[in-house]
Amino acid sequence: MTNSNKGKVVLIGAGPGDIGLLTLNGKGWLQKADVVLYDHLVNPDMLRFTQKSTEIIYVGKKEGVASIEQEQINHLLVSKAREEKIVVRLKGGDPFVFGRGGEEIQAVHAAGIAFVIVPGVTSVTGVAAYAGIPLTHRDLSSTLSIITGSNEKKQGDIHIDWEKIAARSGTLVFLMGARKLPLIAEKLMRFGKSPDTPIAVVQWGTTARQKTWIGTLGTIVEISAKDKISPPALTIIGEVVNLKPVIEWYEHLPLFGKTIVVTRKGDQAESMIDRLRELGAEPFFFPVIETIAPDDWGPLDNALNNLSQYQGLIFTSVNGVRFFSERLKSIDQDIRELKGLRVYTIGPKTAEAVRDLGIRVDVVPENFVAESLIECFENIKGQRFLLPRASVAREILPEQLRKMGAIVDVAPAYQTILPTPQVDELSKRLEAGSIDIITFTSSSTVKNFLALTGKNLLPEIKKAKIACIGPVTQKTAEDAGLNVAIVPEQYTVASLLDAIEATARRGANEQ
Ligand code: SAH
Repeated sequence: MTNSNKGKVVLIGAGPGDIGLLTLNGKGWLQKADVVLYDHLVNPDMLRFTQKSTEIIYVGKKEGVASIEQEQINHLLVSKAREEKIVVRLKGGDPFVFGRGGEEIQAVHAAGIAFVIVPGVTSVTGVAAYAGIPLTHRDLSSTLSIITGSNEKKQGDIHIDWEKIAARSGTLVFLMGARKLPLIAEKLMRFGKSPDTPIAVVQWGTTARQKTWIGTLGTIVEISAKDKISPPALTIIGEVVNLKPVIEWYEHLPLFGKTIVVTRKGDQAESMIDRLRELGAEPFFFPVIETIAPDDWGPLDNALNNLSQYQGLIFTSVNGVRFFSERLKSIDQDIRELKGLRVYTIGPKTAEAVRDLGIRVDVVPENFVAESLIECFENIKGQRFLLPRASVAREILPEQLRKMGAIVDVAPAYQTILPTPQVDELSKRLEAGSIDIITFTSSSTVKNFLALTGKNLLPEIKKAKIACIGPVTQKTAEDAGLNVAIVPEQYTVASLLDAIEATARRGANEQ
């Protein structure tokens, strides 16, 4: 990295919640960051874009109270940047819309530190879009006012020129006004706004917790009274609110409101997360498996140097294929050495990974479990098979093939380890009952998940719906005391997601 990148502060707007609303620039800087300071309203899920070595510092509120003073944050930004680091300051929404971004940059500038500013999707526009309320409309509103609901001067009052605000004709948007709703409604009416003016309050917009209250200035306090609306909430006032029934879309997505835990590991999780977001769910990324090189390459190298002695090559996972081909390359061999070998795989993804290498797959069984693959072998007495796979795996496949008279060389091509994902955040959400579904895509995801969360959380985990990719994973989950609610007919991630969607649609119809 060039020196010009060192010792700077990058102020990034993280958007209002949905991780998809982070900009490409923002993501790019997160990937490069040495240090990240993030706030209460930032979706912590996006911290997964950082590197393993990145220092992550939470500077947001704890139970509504600032956990660290603004002065201290400014000091941290400056001192970390002076250590020649790329310091990312990650803020909810856009940093220049009631985000104190200006103040922090003033401090950074005063210290002579270089900075970059990456705007974000402000909650004003992001939350309105996810609520289905256009902020302006040629027939209804041609101005937009963005107002703070919390600029407290005197006790309980807000320092706002209510008379002027109430006289404005267009759309009014209040931020930080959740607890001040009665005051806002009352002042606007007192200074002349009609009690019939439509109003929407949207809490936790763009996330699984999005909730909207609709009414008029005259009715909204009563309508929302029993719910005691807490922050963050955006208040939108004006005729445009009436368009919501036509334009709302996010709340109609099949998995809207569902928080779904994804336990797959990093690179394989991405497509699953994208699909879940498309279906309206909020994915909670909790990778429990990480694959690394095996402790000993010896057995695999040995096999790779003597490939001509084999009649068959068996892959049971995408990782097996990946590590196998990388090892082949790194010891200066290539796929021509595989000539004449029959290639067997379990599952279409594994087969696809093999085909991507330019190698034809001879056998993919109908069901994607080892037992099914075994049925595909006939007359293999005396034949030699190579099985590159995880260091620890089920023994059924080699055992059965050996019983049929074959010679099977099991060669560790990778091993799985437990990473340290955000256990605290998950515990908090489990305890709050806000985790709806936990997905498991292999037996080891089940075991590792339970090992990471520990016994204490088991009762909370049992309250969530458990979705397993296939019967083997299901059995592991059931043996551990979990009730498995969802298992697809085909044992693929795509089918698992279809099954989750179908369950959600059924649930919605029953209500
Ligand atoms: N810089 C931020 C605003 C920070 S002030 C931005 O551009 O959005 C915090 C206020 O933003 C909250 O009190 C709330 O009014 C609003 N807000 C932020 N995220 C929100 C969300 N997901 N849903 C509703 N309101 C949100």
